[in-house]
Amino acid sequence: MRSIRVIVSVVLLAWTVACGSRSPLGADLIVTNARIWTGEPRQPSATALAIIGERIVDIGETKDIERWRGRDTQILDAQGRRTIPGFNDAHVHFVDGGAELENVDLKDADTPAEFARRIGERARSRPGEWILGGNWDDQRWSPPELPTRALIDDITNGTPVFVYRYDGHMALANSAALGRAGITEATPDPPGGSIVRDAKGVPTGVLKDAAMTPVQRVVPKMSDERRLQVVKSALKHAASVGVTSVQDMNPSYDDLSAYAELASRGELTTRIYAAPMETDWYDQAKIGVRRAFGSTWLRIGAIKGYADGSLGATTAFFFQPYTDTPNTRGLLSDEMQPIESMRTRLMAADHAGLQLCVHAIGDAGISAILDLFTDILAANGDRDRRFRIEHAQHIAPKDFDRFASLKVVASMQPYHAIDDGRFAERRIGPERIKTTYAFKTLLDNGVRLAFGTDWAVAPLNPLLGLYAATTRATLDGKNPDGWVPEQKISIEQAVTAYTSGSAFAEFQDREKGTLVRGKLADLVILSDDIFSIPPARLKDVHVLATVAGGKIVHQRQP
Ligand SMILES: [Zn+2]
Repeated sequence: MRSIRVIVSVVLLAWTVACGSRSPLGADLIVTNARIWTGEPRQPSATALAIIGERIVDIGETKDIERWRGRDTQILDAQGRRTIPGFNDAHVHFVDGGAELENVDLKDADTPAEFARRIGERARSRPGEWILGGNWDDQRWSPPELPTRALIDDITNGTPVFVYRYDGHMALANSAALGRAGITEATPDPPGGSIVRDAKGVPTGVLKDAAMTPVQRVVPKMSDERRLQVVKSALKHAASVGVTSVQDMNPSYDDLSAYAELASRGELTTRIYAAPMETDWYDQAKIGVRRAFGSTWLRIGAIKGYADGSLGATTAFFFQPYTDTPNTRGLLSDEMQPIESMRTRLMAADHAGLQLCVHAIGDAGISAILDLFTDILAANGDRDRRFRIEHAQHIAPKDFDRFASLKVVASMQPYHAIDDGRFAERRIGPERIKTTYAFKTLLDNGVRLAFGTDWAVAPLNPLLGLYAATTRATLDGKNPDGWVPEQKISIEQAVTAYTSGSAFAEFQDREKGTLVRGKLADLVILSDDIFSIPPARLKDVHVLATVAGGKIVHQRQP
């Protein structure tokens, strides 16, 4: 029906243009009085666009677009504000992000009393339901001290609590949670973990690393109903920060099922491309699913693997030892032990037409994946396959060439650069940081960048990513002119990576990523002109309106 309407409208437009009158049918939505950055070299700017259904039918100057105004046309007046394509976050963990929004937030609980108050409030509003999340930071308390279950037992009664420290390496369980996990005074510390105890040897509730496992095992699996709620929260948040597409890494099949349910109800407001775990590649291959298979709202056909760990945990895999931990150079992931098994799976998945996305952070981890991609290309022949390396944080100088010649997309998260930048030099030394988060060198080598956040690991707000890529000002405020400033890129380059770059990474560059006639009507109206304000101010810019598929999915007053 929609396509018939589009045809009818276009015919009517031709007729009305010929007669110089208004279209009786008109567009569904007109965005007018905007300062549009289209991302299209042939028509870089415009002031208005018309939308029918979920697509842009015309873009140009306000006076020309007026002829699309019909009886029922909705008008969105951008009031002269900067308008750009919707952001496409190329790397998120969408359900984790949604769950974090729903969980109790202890990040800025600056005193034990405030910590307890927030947990108590949640226990009263949802008695009996596990209280999870947290992100508490005992270093904010003066004096710093670890929380204890005694602090929260009385106010939570039987409601189990299991809240993490922000680094994820320890958590506080209350007595109800310890009881369900069977942890008592008599429980010994497991290998690789410790149960914090008081002077009498009684567990205080804080569990470190492997000692958390028994509680994690008894936390109930998310119900289908709850998962839908979590996804809805994530969608709402994405709309509020102008994210109209996400590429979801390592979703479970339950997550996919929730997305499919919302897609069938027409309730998705952010487009999702999902890349389940690489080790399960055959699930998609056996039913003939290939890259970017699905609708404009929900697609599958990619797989996501891991080459190594992270810089923070000294598990990213490097050619040379860590500078501050010389007894290690990191680790290849389980999936890469041995590399031959990874090669076999990726080779077969590529042969089946699936898209390969692999997490690789250390220079040797990245190199190992480029080796595998080289082998796959040689064995399976050339085609438009858009290999992806996720994170691509620390690239050996010799490998930039290979990134380009293998046409690997570098799927990167600029916010991590200003976070890791606080400690990266200490960890890997002054030489290796020169090609760390090497946005500029990658672009200079003709490599495609796709930007994202790794949400919930980093905030979903794309303006923070634009700020990070253009300033490289670390979160600790110690590098206001940029950490490794040679790797800063321009705001246009950063926005491109976050829109058409991400669209390219998911084989959707013909459908979205720029604002042009025929493409999906996904756009954002911003509070400030990101192309003319100083980059240091980008982090304060907010989204006034988000349009996804021709519908206004978020709007706020300036
Ligand atoms: Zn991730």
